[in-house]
Amino acid sequence: MREIMDGIRDLSEVAELSATQAQLLLERACLRHGLRCPRCAESRCCRLRPPRFRCSRCAHSFRLFTGRWIERPRIPARSWLAALKCLEFDIRGQAGSRFAGLSEPVYYRALDAARRSLAAQDPAWKALAAESEGQPEVFGVRRSRNGKGGEPLRIEPVGGGKDLLRLASDLGVRHRNGFAYLSAYAGYDALVCHGAVLKELGIATRAFDRVTGDPFLSFLVNRTTRHFGIPRSSFPLYLKEQELRFNGGGLPLFPRLLDSITSYR
Ligand SMILES: [Zn+2]
Repeated sequence: MREIMDGIRDLSEVAELSATQAQLLLERACLRHGLRCPRCAESRCCRLRPPRFRCSRCAHSFRLFTGRWIERPRIPARSWLAALKCLEFDIRGQAGSRFAGLSEPVYYRALDAARRSLAAQDPAWKALAAESEGQPEVFGVRRSRNGKGGEPLRIEPVGGGKDLLRLASDLGVRHRNGFAYLSAYAGYDALVCHGAVLKELGIATRAFDRVTGDPFLSFLVNRTTRHFGIPRSSFPLYLKEQELRFNGGGLPLFPRLLDSITSYR
Protein backbone atom coordinates (compact mmCIF):
# COMPACT_ATOMS: atom_id res chain seq x y z
CA MET A 1 0.00 0.00 0.00
CA ARG A 2 2.79 2.33 0.98
CA GLU A 3 4.29 2.07 -2.54
CA ILE A 4 0.97 2.91 -4.15
CA MET A 5 0.40 5.92 -1.93
CA ASP A 6 3.92 7.19 -2.35
CA GLY A 7 3.77 6.40 -6.05
CA ILE A 8 1.33 9.20 -6.68
CA ARG A 9 3.62 12.16 -6.70
CA ASP A 10 1.94 14.61 -8.97
CA LEU A 11 -1.42 15.52 -10.36
CA SER A 12 -0.90 13.82 -13.71
CA GLU A 13 -0.56 10.44 -12.01
CA VAL A 14 -4.01 10.84 -10.51
CA ALA A 15 -5.39 11.93 -13.88
CA GLU A 16 -3.95 8.79 -15.48
CA LEU A 17 -5.59 6.35 -13.02
CA SER A 18 -8.58 4.46 -14.34
CA ALA A 19 -11.78 4.57 -12.28
CA THR A 20 -11.13 0.94 -11.25
CA GLN A 21 -7.55 1.63 -10.16
CA ALA A 22 -8.66 4.63 -8.12
CA GLN A 23 -11.42 2.63 -6.47
CA LEU A 24 -8.98 -0.19 -5.66
CA LEU A 25 -6.53 2.25 -4.14
CA LEU A 26 -9.19 3.71 -1.84
CA GLU A 27 -10.46 0.25 -0.89
CA ARG A 28 -6.98 -0.91 0.06
CA ALA A 29 -6.43 2.25 2.09
CA CYS A 30 -9.74 1.53 3.92
CA LEU A 31 -8.77 -2.05 4.70
CA ARG A 32 -5.58 -0.88 6.41
CA HIS A 33 -7.91 0.44 9.13
CA GLY A 34 -9.71 -2.89 9.31
CA LEU A 35 -13.44 -3.53 9.04
CA ARG A 36 -16.20 -2.73 11.47
CA CYS A 37 -19.89 -3.53 11.26
CA PRO A 38 -21.74 -0.17 11.49
CA ARG A 39 -24.54 -1.82 13.47
CA CYS A 40 -22.71 -3.89 16.11
CA ALA A 41 -19.00 -2.98 15.65
CA GLU A 42 -18.04 -6.61 14.96
CA SER A 43 -14.80 -6.87 13.02
CA ARG A 44 -15.35 -10.38 11.61
CA CYS A 45 -17.12 -9.86 8.32
CA CYS A 46 -17.41 -11.81 5.10
CA ARG A 47 -16.96 -10.35 1.68
CA LEU A 48 -20.00 -10.05 -0.58
CA ARG A 49 -19.97 -8.58 -4.06
CA PRO A 50 -17.47 -5.66 -3.86
CA PRO A 51 -17.51 -3.28 -2.15
CA ARG A 52 -20.06 -4.90 0.19
CA PHE A 53 -19.48 -6.96 3.32
CA ARG A 54 -21.71 -8.90 5.69
CA CYS A 55 -21.26 -8.92 9.45
CA SER A 56 -20.60 -12.43 10.83
CA ARG A 57 -22.43 -11.56 14.03
CA CYS A 58 -25.60 -9.67 13.10
CA ALA A 59 -25.71 -10.41 9.35
CA HIS A 60 -26.00 -6.72 8.50
CA SER A 61 -24.62 -5.99 5.06
CA PHE A 62 -22.74 -2.75 4.51
CA ARG A 63 -20.38 -0.97 2.15
CA LEU A 64 -16.66 -0.70 2.78
CA PHE A 65 -16.89 3.12 3.04
CA THR A 66 -19.74 3.08 5.60
CA GLY A 67 -18.86 4.96 8.79
CA ARG A 68 -15.64 6.40 7.37
CA TRP A 69 -14.85 10.00 6.50
CA ILE A 70 -14.75 9.10 2.84
CA GLU A 71 -18.46 8.31 2.89
CA ARG A 72 -19.42 11.98 2.60
CA PRO A 73 -19.52 13.54 0.14
CA ARG A 74 -20.21 10.48 -1.98
CA ILE A 75 -18.04 11.14 -5.02
CA PRO A 76 -16.12 8.94 -7.48
CA ALA A 77 -12.85 7.47 -6.16
CA ARG A 78 -10.79 9.38 -8.70
CA SER A 79 -12.41 12.65 -7.61
CA TRP A 80 -11.43 11.88 -4.02
CA LEU A 81 -7.82 11.23 -4.95
CA ALA A 82 -7.75 14.38 -7.11
CA ALA A 83 -9.23 16.49 -4.29
CA LEU A 84 -6.66 15.15 -1.79
CA LYS A 85 -3.86 15.86 -4.22
CA CYS A 86 -5.21 19.41 -4.74
CA LEU A 87 -5.30 19.89 -0.97
CA GLU A 88 -1.69 18.74 -0.74
CA PHE A 89 -0.67 21.23 -3.42
CA ASP A 90 -3.03 23.95 -2.17
CA ILE A 91 -4.99 24.17 -5.40
CA ARG A 92 -8.23 25.97 -4.69
CA GLY A 93 -11.30 27.26 -6.43
CA GLN A 94 -12.16 26.46 -10.00
CA ALA A 95 -8.80 24.91 -10.91
CA GLY A 96 -9.18 22.34 -8.12
CA SER A 97 -12.85 21.58 -8.68
CA ARG A 98 -12.31 21.14 -12.42
CA PHE A 99 -9.40 18.80 -11.88
CA ALA A 100 -11.47 16.73 -9.47
CA GLY A 101 -14.46 16.82 -11.82
CA LEU A 102 -16.68 18.28 -9.09
CA SER A 103 -18.79 21.39 -8.67
CA GLU A 104 -17.11 23.97 -6.41
CA PRO A 105 -19.47 23.39 -3.44
CA VAL A 106 -18.91 19.61 -3.55
CA TYR A 107 -15.18 20.10 -3.99
CA TYR A 108 -15.07 22.28 -0.87
CA ARG A 109 -17.13 19.73 1.05
CA ALA A 110 -14.54 17.10 0.14
CA LEU A 111 -11.68 19.36 1.27
CA ASP A 112 -13.52 20.10 4.51
CA ALA A 113 -14.05 16.37 5.18
CA ALA A 114 -10.37 15.72 4.47
CA ARG A 115 -9.26 18.46 6.92
CA ARG A 116 -11.67 17.17 9.57
CA SER A 117 -10.38 13.62 9.12
CA LEU A 118 -6.81 14.86 9.56
CA ALA A 119 -7.67 16.72 12.76
CA ALA A 120 -9.69 13.78 14.11
CA GLN A 121 -6.55 11.62 14.23
CA ASP A 122 -5.48 13.74 17.21
CA PRO A 123 -7.60 12.91 20.32
CA ALA A 124 -7.50 16.55 21.49
CA TRP A 125 -9.10 17.59 18.18
CA LYS A 126 -11.63 14.82 17.71
CA ALA A 127 -14.60 16.77 19.07
CA LEU A 128 -13.69 19.86 17.09
CA ALA A 129 -13.35 17.81 13.91
CA ALA A 130 -16.86 16.41 14.34
CA GLU A 131 -18.74 19.66 15.02
CA SER A 132 -18.80 23.10 13.50
CA GLU A 133 -20.37 25.20 16.24
CA GLY A 134 -19.64 26.05 19.84
CA GLN A 135 -16.04 24.99 19.52
CA PRO A 136 -12.87 26.54 20.96
CA GLU A 137 -11.48 29.44 18.98
CA VAL A 138 -8.26 29.99 20.89
CA PHE A 139 -5.32 27.64 20.45
CA GLY A 140 -2.13 27.05 22.36
CA VAL A 141 1.17 26.36 20.61
CA ARG A 142 3.72 24.10 22.30
CA ARG A 143 7.17 23.54 20.96
CA SER A 144 9.07 20.36 21.77
CA ARG A 145 12.22 21.10 23.73
CA ASN A 146 13.87 17.75 24.28
CA GLY A 147 14.53 17.16 20.57
CA LYS A 148 14.22 13.39 21.07
CA GLY A 149 11.84 12.39 18.34
CA GLY A 150 8.15 13.28 18.58
CA GLU A 151 6.61 16.19 16.72
CA PRO A 152 8.47 19.51 16.87
CA LEU A 153 5.25 21.47 17.36
CA ARG A 154 1.81 20.88 18.80
CA ILE A 155 -1.30 23.03 18.59
CA GLU A 156 -4.20 22.33 20.90
CA PRO A 157 -7.60 23.90 21.54
CA VAL A 158 -7.61 25.92 24.78
CA GLY A 159 -10.73 25.62 26.93
CA GLY A 160 -11.88 29.01 28.26
CA GLY A 161 -9.49 30.51 25.75
CA LYS A 162 -11.35 33.80 25.41
CA ASP A 163 -10.85 34.58 29.12
CA LEU A 164 -7.21 33.78 28.68
CA LEU A 165 -7.05 36.21 25.77
CA ARG A 166 -8.60 38.99 27.90
CA LEU A 167 -5.99 38.38 30.59
CA ALA A 168 -3.15 38.17 28.15
CA SER A 169 -4.21 41.21 26.13
CA ASP A 170 -2.13 43.47 28.39
CA LEU A 171 0.91 41.91 26.76
CA GLY A 172 -0.10 43.59 23.51
CA VAL A 173 -1.62 41.40 20.84
CA ARG A 174 0.02 41.38 17.47
CA HIS A 175 -1.78 40.42 14.31
CA ARG A 176 -1.06 39.75 10.66
CA ASN A 177 -3.10 38.39 7.73
CA GLY A 178 -6.23 38.07 9.86
CA PHE A 179 -4.83 36.05 12.74
CA ALA A 180 -3.46 37.13 16.11
CA TYR A 181 -0.49 35.72 17.94
CA LEU A 182 0.46 36.19 21.58
CA SER A 183 3.87 35.04 22.65
CA ALA A 184 4.41 32.73 25.63
CA TYR A 185 1.47 32.76 27.99
CA ALA A 186 -0.10 30.40 30.54
CA GLY A 187 2.27 27.51 29.88
CA TYR A 188 2.02 27.80 26.11
CA ASP A 189 4.79 29.01 23.87
CA ALA A 190 2.16 31.10 22.10
CA LEU A 191 -1.58 31.62 21.80
CA VAL A 192 -3.17 32.01 18.41
CA CYS A 193 -6.68 32.88 17.24
CA HIS A 194 -8.56 34.41 14.33
CA GLY A 195 -8.44 38.22 14.31
CA ALA A 196 -12.25 38.49 14.42
CA VAL A 197 -12.28 36.87 17.88
CA LEU A 198 -10.28 39.80 19.27
CA LYS A 199 -12.46 42.34 17.52
CA GLU A 200 -15.50 40.73 19.10
CA LEU A 201 -13.87 40.91 22.55
CA GLY A 202 -12.90 44.55 21.98
CA ILE A 203 -9.19 43.79 22.44
CA ALA A 204 -6.87 46.26 20.78
CA THR A 205 -4.21 44.83 18.51
CA ARG A 206 -1.24 46.13 16.63
CA ALA A 207 0.23 44.78 13.43
CA PHE A 208 3.52 42.89 13.41
CA ASP A 209 6.26 45.06 12.06
CA ARG A 210 8.49 42.09 11.34
CA VAL A 211 8.40 38.41 12.15
CA THR A 212 11.57 36.88 13.49
CA GLY A 213 12.67 34.30 16.00
CA ASP A 214 9.65 32.02 15.85
CA PRO A 215 9.81 29.53 12.96
CA PHE A 216 6.14 28.54 13.23
CA LEU A 217 4.98 32.16 13.24
CA SER A 218 7.02 32.85 10.10
CA PHE A 219 5.55 29.72 8.53
CA LEU A 220 2.00 30.78 9.42
CA VAL A 221 2.53 34.30 8.09
CA ASN A 222 3.81 32.90 4.78
CA ARG A 223 0.94 30.46 4.44
CA THR A 224 -1.80 32.98 5.29
CA THR A 225 -0.26 35.53 2.92
CA ARG A 226 -0.64 32.99 0.14
CA HIS A 227 -4.29 32.44 1.06
CA PHE A 228 -5.25 36.11 1.49
CA GLY A 229 -6.53 35.43 5.01
CA ILE A 230 -8.68 32.58 6.28
CA PRO A 231 -12.41 32.68 7.14
CA ARG A 232 -13.10 32.51 10.87
CA SER A 233 -15.21 29.37 10.58
CA SER A 234 -12.46 27.36 8.90
CA PHE A 235 -9.57 28.80 10.92
CA PRO A 236 -9.32 25.97 13.54
CA LEU A 237 -9.04 23.18 10.97
CA TYR A 238 -6.74 25.34 8.86
CA LEU A 239 -4.48 25.79 11.88
CA LYS A 240 -4.35 22.04 12.51
CA GLU A 241 -3.45 21.51 8.86
CA GLN A 242 -0.57 24.01 9.25
CA GLU A 243 0.71 22.13 12.31
CA LEU A 244 0.90 18.94 10.26
CA ARG A 245 2.54 20.71 7.33
CA PHE A 246 5.05 22.40 9.62
CA ASN A 247 5.90 19.13 11.40
CA GLY A 248 6.09 17.29 8.08
CA GLY A 249 8.95 19.55 7.05
CA GLY A 250 7.92 19.56 3.40
CA LEU A 251 7.07 15.83 3.17
CA PRO A 252 4.04 15.12 0.96
CA LEU A 253 0.73 15.39 2.80
CA PHE A 254 -1.08 13.04 0.41
CA PRO A 255 -0.24 9.69 2.12
CA ARG A 256 -1.42 11.11 5.42
CA LEU A 257 -4.61 12.48 3.86
CA LEU A 258 -5.37 9.15 2.21
CA ASP A 259 -4.86 7.43 5.54
CA SER A 260 -7.09 9.81 7.51
CA ILE A 261 -9.92 10.07 4.99
CA THR A 262 -10.29 6.26 4.91
CA SER A 263 -10.30 5.95 8.72
CA TYR A 264 -13.50 5.52 10.74
CA ARG A 265 -15.19 8.71 11.94
ZN1 LIG B 1 -22.95 -6.50 12.96
